[in-house]
Amino acid sequence: MARKRTLDLEKYREILIEERDRLQAELKRIEDKAAGRDRLHSEQAGQDFDEPGGDAAIETVERAQAMAVGASLREQFDEVNAALAKIENGTYGICDSCGKQITKKRLEVLPWATLCKECRSGLSGM
Ligand SMILES: [Zn+2]
Repeated sequence: MARKRTLDLEKYREILIEERDRLQAELKRIEDKAAGRDRLHSEQAGQDFDEPGGDAAIETVERAQAMAVGASLREQFDEVNAALAKIENGTYGICDSCGKQITKKRLEVLPWATLCKECRSGLSGM
């Protein structure tokens, strides 16, 4: 029986949806942190201000780190969503750039890959 080698899309869809939900929760947490919403206590607790500037400086660094992490998470979140959209429109596993099949091995490692290895490495530095 000649059976076309197809990807197990349901499996990848499940992985991607799980990953999307995880990233969404993580992004929410990080955005709250970047916005300083988990730091209200330091504004309310006057007795913590015996080291003028100390808390604020740490906060600034933490917010900058949170924003950097948030930016890379958002990037990945966009990739996961793009891969999910490709499952919906039937182009999952096909490179966005050259139209070649992305290897199954690559998709096992990076289920949200939308570029083949060659095209992705051509973009390195981005
Ligand atoms: Zn390609």
